[in-house]
Amino acid sequence: MPGSFYDPFSLFEGEGRDEGGKEPSPQPSPPGSGAKVLWDVVIVGAGPAGLMTSIHCAEGNLRTLVLDGKEAIGAKLLLSGGGRCNVTHLKVNEKNYHSGASRTVRNVLRAFPSEKTLAFFREYGVEMVLEEGTQYFPREQSSKVVLQALLQASRRFGVVIEKGKKVQKISREADLFCISGKGFECFSKTLVLATGGLSYPGTGSDGSGYVLAKSLGHTIVLTTPALTPLLTEDDDWKSLAGITRPVRLSLLADGKETARSEGALLFTHVGFSGPAVLDISGPWLRCDARQKELCVDFFPERRKADFLAEWIRSIIEHPNRSWRRAVSKYFPERLAEVLLKKSGIAPAVRLDQVPQKDRETFLQSLFRFPIKVTGSQGYEKAEVTAGGVDLREVDAKTLESKRCPGLFLAGEVLDVDGRIGGFNFQWAWASGAVVGRSILQRLRGC
Ligand SMILES: Cc1cc2nc3c(=O)[nH]c(=O)nc-3n(C[C@H](O)[C@H](O)[C@H](O)COP(=O)(O)OP(=O)(O)OC[C@H]3O[C@@H](n4cnc5c(N)ncnc54)[C@H](O)[C@@H]3O)c2cc1C
Repeated sequence: MPGSFYDPFSLFEGEGRDEGGKEPSPQPSPPGSGAKVLWDVVIVGAGPAGLMTSIHCAEGNLRTLVLDGKEAIGAKLLLSGGGRCNVTHLKVNEKNYHSGASRTVRNVLRAFPSEKTLAFFREYGVEMVLEEGTQYFPREQSSKVVLQALLQASRRFGVVIEKGKKVQKISREADLFCISGKGFECFSKTLVLATGGLSYPGTGSDGSGYVLAKSLGHTIVLTTPALTPLLTEDDDWKSLAGITRPVRLSLLADGKETARSEGALLFTHVGFSGPAVLDISGPWLRCDARQKELCVDFFPERRKADFLAEWIRSIIEHPNRSWRRAVSKYFPERLAEVLLKKSGIAPAVRLDQVPQKDRETFLQSLFRFPIKVTGSQGYEKAEVTAGGVDLREVDAKTLESKRCPGLFLAGEVLDVDGRIGGFNFQWAWASGAVVGRSILQRLRGC
Protein backbone atom coordinates (compact mmCIF):
# COMPACT_ATOMS: atom_id res chain seq x y z
CA MET A 1 0.00 0.00 0.00
CA PRO A 2 1.50 3.36 -0.93
CA GLY A 3 2.25 5.75 1.94
CA SER A 4 0.44 8.97 2.78
CA PHE A 5 -0.76 11.19 -0.04
CA TYR A 6 -0.71 14.85 -0.78
CA ASP A 7 -4.11 16.32 -1.66
CA PRO A 8 -3.59 18.10 -4.97
CA PHE A 9 -6.43 20.52 -4.38
CA SER A 10 -5.60 21.39 -0.75
CA LEU A 11 -3.54 24.32 -2.05
CA PHE A 12 -6.62 26.18 -3.08
CA GLU A 13 -9.40 24.63 -1.03
CA GLY A 14 -11.79 27.30 0.23
CA GLU A 15 -10.76 29.65 -2.55
CA GLY A 16 -13.34 28.14 -4.88
CA ARG A 17 -12.61 26.29 -8.10
CA ASP A 18 -12.78 28.87 -10.83
CA GLU A 19 -16.44 28.13 -11.45
CA GLY A 20 -16.85 31.35 -13.33
CA GLY A 21 -14.27 30.40 -15.94
CA LYS A 22 -12.05 33.41 -15.16
CA GLU A 23 -8.49 32.66 -14.02
CA PRO A 24 -7.40 29.02 -13.99
CA SER A 25 -7.00 27.46 -10.54
CA PRO A 26 -3.49 27.12 -9.12
CA GLN A 27 -2.02 23.82 -10.25
CA PRO A 28 -0.95 21.11 -7.85
CA SER A 29 2.50 19.55 -7.99
CA PRO A 30 2.88 17.52 -11.15
CA PRO A 31 3.83 13.88 -11.15
CA GLY A 32 7.56 13.38 -10.85
CA SER A 33 7.98 16.46 -8.66
CA GLY A 34 8.60 14.39 -5.54
CA ALA A 35 5.33 14.96 -3.71
CA LYS A 36 3.05 11.93 -3.49
CA VAL A 37 -0.29 12.84 -4.99
CA LEU A 38 -3.51 10.89 -4.74
CA TRP A 39 -5.72 11.70 -7.70
CA ASP A 40 -9.38 10.82 -8.00
CA VAL A 41 -8.84 10.08 -11.65
CA VAL A 42 -5.85 9.80 -13.93
CA ILE A 43 -6.59 9.87 -17.65
CA VAL A 44 -4.03 8.49 -20.05
CA GLY A 45 -4.32 10.40 -23.35
CA ALA A 46 -5.21 14.05 -23.98
CA GLY A 47 -7.03 13.46 -27.26
CA PRO A 48 -10.72 14.34 -27.73
CA ALA A 49 -11.93 11.41 -25.58
CA GLY A 50 -9.47 12.02 -22.75
CA LEU A 51 -10.11 15.77 -22.61
CA MET A 52 -13.89 15.32 -22.66
CA THR A 53 -13.60 12.78 -19.83
CA SER A 54 -11.40 15.12 -17.82
CA ILE A 55 -13.82 18.04 -18.14
CA HIS A 56 -16.76 15.95 -16.92
CA CYS A 57 -14.74 14.63 -13.96
CA ALA A 58 -13.29 17.97 -12.90
CA GLU A 59 -16.64 19.71 -13.30
CA GLY A 60 -17.81 17.44 -10.48
CA ASN A 61 -14.81 18.53 -8.35
CA LEU A 62 -12.78 15.38 -8.86
CA ARG A 63 -9.00 15.73 -8.70
CA THR A 64 -8.22 15.10 -12.32
CA LEU A 65 -4.86 14.53 -13.99
CA VAL A 66 -4.38 13.95 -17.73
CA LEU A 67 -1.10 12.48 -18.95
CA ASP A 68 -0.05 12.59 -22.58
CA GLY A 69 3.10 11.18 -24.15
CA LYS A 70 3.41 14.03 -26.64
CA GLU A 71 4.58 17.58 -25.98
CA ALA A 72 2.03 18.91 -28.47
CA ILE A 73 -1.50 18.16 -27.33
CA GLY A 74 -4.30 17.55 -29.82
CA ALA A 75 -2.12 16.94 -32.88
CA LYS A 76 -4.67 14.62 -34.48
CA LEU A 77 -7.57 16.90 -33.72
CA LEU A 78 -5.75 19.79 -35.38
CA LEU A 79 -5.17 17.71 -38.53
CA SER A 80 -8.72 16.48 -38.67
CA GLY A 81 -11.20 17.31 -41.41
CA GLY A 82 -8.39 18.83 -43.48
CA GLY A 83 -7.61 21.23 -40.60
CA ARG A 84 -11.28 22.15 -40.19
CA CYS A 85 -12.46 19.34 -37.87
CA ASN A 86 -15.74 17.67 -38.73
CA VAL A 87 -16.90 17.77 -35.10
CA THR A 88 -20.05 15.69 -35.36
CA HIS A 89 -22.89 14.55 -37.61
CA LEU A 90 -26.55 15.52 -37.73
CA LYS A 91 -27.87 11.97 -37.41
CA VAL A 92 -25.79 9.64 -35.31
CA ASN A 93 -26.75 6.13 -34.35
CA GLU A 94 -25.03 2.80 -33.81
CA LYS A 95 -25.62 1.77 -37.44
CA ASN A 96 -22.87 4.18 -38.46
CA TYR A 97 -20.28 2.22 -36.50
CA HIS A 98 -18.54 -1.10 -36.71
CA SER A 99 -18.07 -2.64 -33.26
CA GLY A 100 -18.22 -5.82 -31.28
CA ALA A 101 -21.27 -4.75 -29.23
CA SER A 102 -23.71 -2.39 -30.89
CA ARG A 103 -25.88 -2.19 -27.74
CA THR A 104 -23.03 -0.53 -25.88
CA VAL A 105 -22.45 1.89 -28.75
CA ARG A 106 -26.16 2.72 -28.79
CA ASN A 107 -26.25 3.38 -25.02
CA VAL A 108 -23.26 5.68 -25.18
CA LEU A 109 -24.49 7.64 -28.20
CA ARG A 110 -27.92 8.09 -26.65
CA ALA A 111 -26.42 9.28 -23.37
CA PHE A 112 -24.53 12.06 -25.17
CA PRO A 113 -26.08 12.77 -28.58
CA SER A 114 -24.71 15.24 -31.10
CA GLU A 115 -26.98 18.03 -29.76
CA LYS A 116 -25.01 17.85 -26.51
CA THR A 117 -21.77 18.14 -28.43
CA LEU A 118 -23.08 21.27 -30.15
CA ALA A 119 -24.28 22.71 -26.82
CA PHE A 120 -20.93 21.97 -25.17
CA PHE A 121 -18.94 23.81 -27.83
CA ARG A 122 -21.46 26.65 -27.98
CA GLU A 123 -20.84 27.25 -24.27
CA TYR A 124 -17.20 27.88 -25.12
CA GLY A 125 -18.00 30.17 -28.00
CA VAL A 126 -17.70 27.68 -30.87
CA GLU A 127 -20.72 27.72 -33.17
CA MET A 128 -21.03 24.98 -35.76
CA VAL A 129 -22.26 25.17 -39.34
CA LEU A 130 -23.80 22.32 -41.30
CA GLU A 131 -22.09 21.23 -44.51
CA GLU A 132 -23.64 18.96 -47.13
CA GLY A 133 -26.73 18.94 -44.94
CA THR A 134 -25.28 16.56 -42.34
CA GLN A 135 -21.73 17.36 -41.22
CA TYR A 136 -20.94 19.93 -38.54
CA PHE A 137 -17.80 22.05 -38.77
CA PRO A 138 -16.80 25.06 -36.64
CA ARG A 139 -18.00 28.34 -38.16
CA GLU A 140 -14.37 29.56 -38.07
CA GLN A 141 -13.43 26.66 -40.42
CA SER A 142 -10.56 25.82 -38.10
CA SER A 143 -9.90 22.87 -35.81
CA LYS A 144 -7.89 25.20 -33.55
CA VAL A 145 -11.04 26.66 -32.01
CA VAL A 146 -12.22 23.15 -31.10
CA LEU A 147 -8.98 22.35 -29.29
CA GLN A 148 -8.98 25.78 -27.63
CA ALA A 149 -12.53 25.20 -26.33
CA LEU A 150 -11.51 21.86 -24.80
CA LEU A 151 -8.43 23.33 -23.16
CA GLN A 152 -10.39 26.33 -21.91
CA ALA A 153 -13.00 24.03 -20.35
CA SER A 154 -10.36 21.85 -18.70
CA ARG A 155 -8.59 24.93 -17.28
CA ARG A 156 -11.87 26.30 -16.01
CA PHE A 157 -12.46 23.25 -13.86
CA GLY A 158 -8.86 22.80 -12.74
CA VAL A 159 -7.84 19.75 -14.79
CA VAL A 160 -4.08 19.23 -14.64
CA ILE A 161 -2.60 18.28 -18.01
CA GLU A 162 0.91 16.90 -18.08
CA LYS A 163 2.58 16.74 -21.50
CA GLY A 164 5.55 14.59 -22.47
CA LYS A 165 4.52 11.90 -19.96
CA LYS A 166 4.19 8.60 -21.78
CA VAL A 167 2.67 5.98 -19.52
CA GLN A 168 4.58 2.71 -19.69
CA LYS A 169 3.28 0.75 -16.75
CA ILE A 170 0.12 0.51 -14.68
CA SER A 171 -0.20 -1.66 -11.60
CA ARG A 172 -2.68 -2.11 -8.79
CA GLU A 173 -1.55 -1.37 -5.25
CA ALA A 174 -4.33 -2.23 -2.82
CA ASP A 175 -7.34 -0.46 -4.34
CA LEU A 176 -5.28 2.24 -6.09
CA PHE A 177 -3.71 2.44 -9.52
CA CYS A 178 -0.01 3.17 -9.77
CA ILE A 179 0.75 4.81 -13.12
CA SER A 180 4.33 5.27 -14.19
CA GLY A 181 6.64 6.17 -17.03
CA LYS A 182 10.12 7.56 -17.51
CA GLY A 183 10.84 9.73 -14.44
CA PHE A 184 7.33 9.87 -13.03
CA GLU A 185 4.87 7.88 -10.96
CA CYS A 186 1.43 8.78 -9.67
CA PHE A 187 -1.45 7.19 -7.81
CA SER A 188 -5.15 7.34 -8.46
CA LYS A 189 -8.46 5.91 -7.29
CA THR A 190 -9.69 5.45 -10.85
CA LEU A 191 -8.00 5.24 -14.21
CA VAL A 192 -9.10 6.02 -17.76
CA LEU A 193 -7.41 4.71 -20.89
CA ALA A 194 -8.11 7.18 -23.73
CA THR A 195 -5.00 6.39 -25.70
CA GLY A 196 -6.50 6.15 -29.19
CA GLY A 197 -5.52 3.40 -31.61
CA LEU A 198 -2.71 3.04 -34.13
CA SER A 199 -3.70 5.50 -36.82
CA TYR A 200 -1.40 8.43 -37.63
CA PRO A 201 1.18 7.20 -35.10
CA GLY A 202 3.11 10.47 -35.41
CA THR A 203 0.33 12.16 -33.45
CA GLY A 204 1.03 10.00 -30.39
CA SER A 205 -1.42 7.12 -30.71
CA ASP A 206 1.10 4.35 -31.20
CA GLY A 207 -0.86 1.38 -29.86
CA SER A 208 0.74 1.48 -26.40
CA GLY A 209 -2.77 1.80 -24.94
CA TYR A 210 -3.52 -1.76 -26.08
CA VAL A 211 -0.45 -3.03 -24.24
CA LEU A 212 -1.57 -1.23 -21.08
CA ALA A 213 -5.14 -2.58 -21.44
CA LYS A 214 -3.79 -6.10 -21.93
CA SER A 215 -1.65 -5.79 -18.80
CA LEU A 216 -4.87 -5.04 -16.90
CA GLY A 217 -6.59 -8.18 -18.19
CA HIS A 218 -8.22 -7.09 -21.44
CA THR A 219 -8.47 -8.83 -24.79
CA ILE A 220 -7.63 -6.86 -27.92
CA VAL A 221 -9.83 -7.53 -30.94
CA LEU A 222 -7.58 -7.77 -34.02
CA THR A 223 -6.88 -4.26 -35.32
CA THR A 224 -6.84 -3.05 -38.92
CA PRO A 225 -6.57 0.43 -40.40
CA ALA A 226 -9.92 1.97 -41.38
CA LEU A 227 -10.84 5.11 -43.30
CA THR A 228 -7.59 4.73 -45.20
CA PRO A 229 -6.83 5.21 -48.93
CA LEU A 230 -6.55 2.06 -51.05
CA LEU A 231 -3.75 1.05 -53.40
CA THR A 232 -3.71 -0.32 -56.92
CA GLU A 233 -0.96 -1.53 -59.22
CA ASP A 234 -3.02 -0.77 -62.31
CA ASP A 235 -1.37 2.06 -64.23
CA ASP A 236 -4.59 2.91 -66.09
CA TRP A 237 -6.32 3.90 -62.85
CA LYS A 238 -3.21 5.66 -61.56
CA SER A 239 -3.08 7.75 -64.74
CA LEU A 240 -6.38 9.32 -63.66
CA ALA A 241 -4.85 10.96 -60.54
CA GLY A 242 -6.82 14.06 -59.59
CA ILE A 243 -10.17 13.02 -61.10
CA THR A 244 -13.12 12.84 -58.66
CA ARG A 245 -16.52 11.22 -59.33
CA PRO A 246 -19.63 10.75 -57.19
CA VAL A 247 -20.08 6.97 -56.96
CA ARG A 248 -21.50 4.06 -55.05
CA LEU A 249 -18.97 1.35 -54.13
CA SER A 250 -19.79 -2.28 -53.44
CA LEU A 251 -17.59 -4.85 -51.78
CA LEU A 252 -18.25 -8.29 -53.22
CA ALA A 253 -17.06 -11.18 -51.08
CA ASP A 254 -17.17 -14.46 -53.02
CA GLY A 255 -19.73 -12.80 -55.29
CA LYS A 256 -22.02 -11.47 -52.52
CA GLU A 257 -22.29 -7.78 -51.67
CA THR A 258 -21.17 -7.39 -48.06
CA ALA A 259 -20.61 -3.62 -47.80
CA ARG A 260 -21.54 -0.50 -49.66
CA SER A 261 -20.54 3.17 -49.51
CA GLU A 262 -21.50 6.34 -51.33
CA GLY A 263 -19.78 9.64 -51.97
CA ALA A 264 -16.78 10.90 -53.88
CA LEU A 265 -14.18 8.60 -55.38
CA LEU A 266 -10.84 10.30 -55.94
CA PHE A 267 -8.26 8.68 -58.23
CA THR A 268 -4.73 9.16 -56.85
CA HIS A 269 -1.23 8.45 -58.19
CA VAL A 270 -1.16 5.30 -56.00
CA GLY A 271 -4.79 4.21 -56.09
CA PHE A 272 -8.12 5.41 -54.74
CA SER A 273 -9.24 7.82 -52.03
CA GLY A 274 -12.17 10.11 -51.22
CA PRO A 275 -15.00 9.55 -48.73
CA ALA A 276 -16.58 6.57 -50.55
CA VAL A 277 -13.24 4.75 -50.65
CA LEU A 278 -12.28 5.62 -47.07
CA ASP A 279 -15.65 4.35 -45.85
CA ILE A 280 -15.30 0.98 -47.55
CA SER A 281 -11.59 0.53 -46.74
CA GLY A 282 -12.31 -0.96 -43.29
CA PRO A 283 -14.73 -3.61 -44.61
CA TRP A 284 -12.32 -4.33 -47.48
CA LEU A 285 -9.37 -4.83 -45.13
CA ARG A 286 -11.39 -6.95 -42.70
CA CYS A 287 -12.91 -9.13 -45.41
CA ASP A 288 -11.19 -12.52 -45.53
CA ALA A 289 -13.27 -14.06 -48.35
CA ARG A 290 -11.36 -16.14 -50.89
CA GLN A 291 -12.35 -13.68 -53.60
CA LYS A 292 -13.00 -10.06 -52.83
CA GLU A 293 -13.71 -7.38 -55.35
CA LEU A 294 -14.52 -3.70 -55.26
CA CYS A 295 -17.01 -2.46 -57.86
CA VAL A 296 -17.94 1.09 -58.80
CA ASP A 297 -21.42 2.26 -59.72
CA PHE A 298 -20.65 5.44 -61.70
CA PHE A 299 -24.31 6.46 -61.77
CA PRO A 300 -25.61 6.05 -58.21
CA GLU A 301 -28.41 8.53 -58.83
CA ARG A 302 -29.67 7.07 -62.13
CA ARG A 303 -32.00 4.25 -63.02
CA LYS A 304 -30.20 1.76 -65.23
CA ALA A 305 -33.19 1.34 -67.56
CA ASP A 306 -33.39 5.11 -68.24
CA PHE A 307 -29.69 5.29 -68.92
CA LEU A 308 -29.79 2.37 -71.39
CA ALA A 309 -32.78 3.90 -73.19
CA GLU A 310 -30.91 7.21 -73.48
CA TRP A 311 -28.01 5.37 -75.15
CA ILE A 312 -30.20 3.56 -77.65
CA ARG A 313 -31.62 6.93 -78.70
CA SER A 314 -28.12 8.38 -78.94
CA ILE A 315 -26.90 5.52 -81.16
CA ILE A 316 -29.92 5.91 -83.46
CA GLU A 317 -29.52 9.69 -83.67
CA HIS A 318 -25.68 9.83 -83.97
CA PRO A 319 -24.46 6.53 -85.43
CA ASN A 320 -21.26 8.17 -86.72
CA ARG A 321 -20.20 9.58 -83.36
CA SER A 322 -17.09 8.01 -81.81
CA TRP A 323 -17.36 6.08 -78.56
CA ARG A 324 -14.82 8.44 -77.01
CA ARG A 325 -17.05 11.42 -77.73
CA ALA A 326 -20.25 9.70 -76.63
CA VAL A 327 -18.82 8.44 -73.31
CA SER A 328 -17.13 11.79 -72.64
CA LYS A 329 -20.60 13.27 -72.33
CA TYR A 330 -20.73 11.55 -68.92
CA PHE A 331 -17.07 11.44 -67.83
CA PRO A 332 -13.85 13.43 -68.14
CA GLU A 333 -12.19 12.30 -71.38
CA ARG A 334 -9.26 10.55 -69.64
CA LEU A 335 -11.66 8.46 -67.56
CA ALA A 336 -13.85 7.72 -70.60
CA GLU A 337 -10.79 6.38 -72.44
CA VAL A 338 -9.73 4.13 -69.56
CA LEU A 339 -13.26 2.72 -69.17
CA LEU A 340 -13.43 1.97 -72.89
CA LYS A 341 -9.94 0.46 -72.97
CA LYS A 342 -10.77 -1.85 -70.07
CA SER A 343 -13.94 -2.94 -71.85
CA GLY A 344 -12.12 -3.70 -75.10
CA ILE A 345 -13.80 -0.93 -77.11
CA ALA A 346 -11.52 1.26 -79.23
CA PRO A 347 -12.29 4.91 -78.35
CA ALA A 348 -12.19 6.03 -82.00
CA VAL A 349 -14.67 3.42 -83.25
CA ARG A 350 -18.15 4.60 -84.37
CA LEU A 351 -21.15 3.99 -82.11
CA ASP A 352 -22.89 1.70 -84.60
CA GLN A 353 -19.76 -0.39 -85.18
CA VAL A 354 -19.82 -2.14 -81.81
CA PRO A 355 -22.06 -5.23 -81.69
CA GLN A 356 -25.16 -4.86 -79.54
CA LYS A 357 -24.01 -7.53 -77.06
CA ASP A 358 -20.65 -5.81 -76.37
CA ARG A 359 -22.36 -2.44 -76.21
CA GLU A 360 -24.79 -3.64 -73.59
CA THR A 361 -22.07 -5.33 -71.58
CA PHE A 362 -20.13 -2.07 -71.49
CA LEU A 363 -23.09 0.10 -70.55
CA GLN A 364 -24.22 -2.32 -67.84
CA SER A 365 -20.68 -2.47 -66.45
CA LEU A 366 -20.77 1.26 -65.68
CA PHE A 367 -23.13 0.34 -62.84
CA ARG A 368 -20.71 -2.28 -61.43
CA PHE A 369 -17.22 -1.61 -62.75
CA PRO A 370 -14.52 -3.73 -61.02
CA ILE A 371 -11.42 -1.91 -59.78
CA LYS A 372 -8.43 -3.91 -58.69
CA VAL A 373 -7.26 -3.02 -55.19
CA THR A 374 -3.96 -4.43 -53.98
CA GLY A 375 -3.73 -3.03 -50.46
CA SER A 376 -4.11 0.08 -48.36
CA GLN A 377 -2.00 3.00 -47.22
CA GLY A 378 -2.26 1.49 -43.73
CA TYR A 379 -2.18 3.14 -40.32
CA GLU A 380 0.09 5.92 -41.60
CA LYS A 381 -2.85 7.42 -43.48
CA ALA A 382 -5.78 5.85 -41.63
CA GLU A 383 -8.17 8.23 -39.89
CA VAL A 384 -9.15 5.54 -37.44
CA THR A 385 -8.30 2.06 -36.17
CA ALA A 386 -10.81 -0.77 -36.36
CA GLY A 387 -10.61 -3.34 -33.55
CA GLY A 388 -9.22 -2.62 -30.10
CA VAL A 389 -10.26 -3.37 -26.54
CA ASP A 390 -13.12 -5.88 -26.66
CA LEU A 391 -16.37 -3.99 -26.00
CA ARG A 392 -17.87 -7.06 -24.35
CA GLU A 393 -15.35 -6.63 -21.55
CA VAL A 394 -16.71 -3.22 -20.51
CA ASP A 395 -20.01 -2.38 -18.84
CA ALA A 396 -22.53 -1.48 -21.55
CA LYS A 397 -23.72 1.64 -19.67
CA THR A 398 -20.67 2.97 -17.79
CA LEU A 399 -17.73 1.77 -19.92
CA GLU A 400 -16.09 0.51 -16.75
CA SER A 401 -13.89 -2.51 -17.25
CA LYS A 402 -15.39 -5.83 -16.19
CA ARG A 403 -11.85 -7.17 -15.86
CA CYS A 404 -10.38 -4.46 -13.66
CA PRO A 405 -12.77 -2.45 -11.44
CA GLY A 406 -12.00 1.27 -11.38
CA LEU A 407 -10.57 1.19 -14.92
CA PHE A 408 -12.62 2.95 -17.62
CA LEU A 409 -12.05 3.17 -21.38
CA ALA A 410 -13.03 5.91 -23.82
CA GLY A 411 -12.59 6.73 -27.50
CA GLU A 412 -10.77 4.91 -30.23
CA VAL A 413 -8.89 2.51 -27.91
CA LEU A 414 -12.17 0.55 -27.77
CA ASP A 415 -13.31 -1.77 -30.56
CA VAL A 416 -15.48 0.89 -32.25
CA ASP A 417 -14.88 2.67 -35.56
CA GLY A 418 -17.27 4.96 -37.34
CA ARG A 419 -17.99 6.04 -40.88
CA ILE A 420 -16.54 9.24 -42.26
CA GLY A 421 -18.54 12.38 -41.49
CA GLY A 422 -17.96 13.30 -37.82
CA PHE A 423 -18.96 9.92 -36.37
CA ASN A 424 -15.56 9.15 -34.87
CA PHE A 425 -15.35 12.41 -32.97
CA GLN A 426 -18.92 11.92 -31.77
CA TRP A 427 -17.85 8.55 -30.36
CA ALA A 428 -14.90 10.25 -28.63
CA TRP A 429 -17.09 13.03 -27.12
CA ALA A 430 -19.88 10.65 -26.09
CA SER A 431 -17.70 7.92 -24.61
CA GLY A 432 -15.61 10.56 -22.81
CA ALA A 433 -18.72 12.15 -21.32
CA VAL A 434 -20.15 8.77 -20.29
CA VAL A 435 -16.91 7.75 -18.59
CA GLY A 436 -16.67 11.12 -16.81
CA ARG A 437 -20.20 10.79 -15.47
CA SER A 438 -19.65 7.14 -14.50
CA ILE A 439 -16.57 8.05 -12.47
CA LEU A 440 -18.44 10.86 -10.74
CA GLN A 441 -21.19 8.38 -9.90
CA ARG A 442 -18.68 5.90 -8.55
CA LEU A 443 -16.68 8.35 -6.43
CA ARG A 444 -19.29 10.91 -5.45
CA GLY A 445 -22.49 8.97 -5.90
CA CYS A 446 -23.93 11.69 -8.14
C1 LIG B 1 -6.02 12.88 -40.56
C2 LIG B 1 -7.23 12.59 -39.71
C3 LIG B 1 -8.40 13.31 -39.92
C4 LIG B 1 -9.53 13.02 -39.14
N1 LIG B 1 -10.67 13.75 -39.34
C5 LIG B 1 -11.78 13.47 -38.60
C6 LIG B 1 -12.95 14.27 -38.72
O1 LIG B 1 -12.95 15.30 -39.42
N2 LIG B 1 -14.06 13.88 -38.01
C7 LIG B 1 -14.06 12.80 -37.17
O2 LIG B 1 -15.09 12.49 -36.57
N3 LIG B 1 -12.94 12.08 -36.98
C8 LIG B 1 -11.80 12.40 -37.66
N4 LIG B 1 -10.65 11.67 -37.44
C9 LIG B 1 -10.68 10.62 -36.41
C10 LIG B 1 -10.49 11.25 -35.00
O3 LIG B 1 -9.39 12.13 -35.04
C11 LIG B 1 -10.28 10.16 -33.96
O4 LIG B 1 -11.39 9.29 -34.00
C12 LIG B 1 -10.17 10.77 -32.56
O5 LIG B 1 -9.07 11.64 -32.49
C13 LIG B 1 -9.99 9.68 -31.51
O6 LIG B 1 -9.89 10.31 -30.27
P1 LIG B 1 -9.16 9.61 -29.03
O7 LIG B 1 -9.11 10.65 -27.96
O8 LIG B 1 -9.81 8.32 -28.74
O9 LIG B 1 -7.69 9.25 -29.53
P2 LIG B 1 -6.52 10.19 -30.11
O10 LIG B 1 -7.05 11.42 -30.72
O11 LIG B 1 -5.67 9.30 -30.91
O12 LIG B 1 -5.72 10.63 -28.79
C14 LIG B 1 -4.99 9.70 -28.02
C15 LIG B 1 -3.98 10.45 -27.18
O13 LIG B 1 -3.36 9.52 -26.29
C16 LIG B 1 -1.99 9.77 -26.20
N5 LIG B 1 -1.32 8.54 -25.79
C17 LIG B 1 -1.33 7.34 -26.45
N6 LIG B 1 -0.63 6.41 -25.75
C18 LIG B 1 -0.19 7.04 -24.63
C19 LIG B 1 0.57 6.61 -23.51
N7 LIG B 1 1.04 5.37 -23.39
N8 LIG B 1 0.85 7.53 -22.52
C20 LIG B 1 0.41 8.81 -22.61
N9 LIG B 1 -0.31 9.26 -23.66
C21 LIG B 1 -0.63 8.38 -24.65
C22 LIG B 1 -1.62 10.25 -27.60
O14 LIG B 1 -0.43 11.03 -27.58
C23 LIG B 1 -2.86 11.06 -28.00
O15 LIG B 1 -2.71 12.42 -27.65
C24 LIG B 1 -9.50 11.98 -38.17
C25 LIG B 1 -8.30 11.29 -37.94
C26 LIG B 1 -7.17 11.61 -38.70
C27 LIG B 1 -5.89 10.85 -38.42
